[in-house]
Amino acid sequence: MVRMKGVRKSFGSLEVLQGIDLDVARGEVVCLIGASGSGKSTLLRCINHLEQLNGGRIWVDNKVVGYDLRGKTLHEKSYNEICRDRTQTGMVFQHFNLFGHMTVLENITLAPRTVLKQKTSEVLPRAMALLEQVGLADKAKAYPRHLSGGQQQRVAIARALCMEPKLMLFDEPTSALDPELVGDVLKVMRDLANSGMTMVVVTHEMGFAREVADRVVFMHGGQIIEQGTPAEVLGDPQHERTRSFLSAVH
Ligand code: ATP
Ligand code: MG
Repeated sequence: MVRMKGVRKSFGSLEVLQGIDLDVARGEVVCLIGASGSGKSTLLRCINHLEQLNGGRIWVDNKVVGYDLRGKTLHEKSYNEICRDRTQTGMVFQHFNLFGHMTVLENITLAPRTVLKQKTSEVLPRAMALLEQVGLADKAKAYPRHLSGGQQQRVAIARALCMEPKLMLFDEPTSALDPELVGDVLKVMRDLANSGMTMVVVTHEMGFAREVADRVVFMHGGQIIEQGTPAEVLGDPQHERTRSFLSAVH
């Protein structure tokens, strides 16, 4: 579903991604771990076309989404084509980013109506089913400010899913939440993983990674240092850097 080959990304003289090769199979759940500044968010942002690459290529569902800074003519993709490709990838951020002046239902139905040009009559039943799925059917008419952080994050997940994406990217979705609100969000993500969604999850929740991930990828200094099953990477890390990271987060 995702293929990254030799992906490089720099901000000024700082090379944040130093040649990333990563394949994510359909239905696979990959948890990305690593210290602050190791490049995890940048990697996710590259997959979702939020950054231009300095080198390498990214394919999502066999379509090139990553392009390098000189590459505009390489792929001859128009802005519209890029936007269309991006609709197959849903992304959930640490800080929810809901539209404060819109109700929960309006937040969820906005993109399908405006970007996919779907009729309200088509989108509404799907949106309500998703609200049910994330346990918030009674909050459809509420505004984000009246919801807890955990509820807002579940709305953000439902909003991403309403676009019917093939791939979901999560960037520390529970890091901004009070501890007692984390469980509900992780449950929604666990259910989603069990339903067969392809997911790349940046997380510090090692319990979630151990239980839900098919593969754990450890990043350090813009490189993938080690990867394997949760039992391998979390239970028996081979690399010294992985060991010291894990002993710091445990
Ligand atoms: P964290 O765990 O703190 O979220 P991360 O692994 O997600 O860290 P990134 O956000 O990918 O790390 O950042 C990697 C490096 O790139 C950091 O040194 C950061 O300061 C730098 N960086 C990220 N985005 C930008 C930007 N837009 N401009 C300049 N530097 C950036
Ligand atoms: Mg980050």
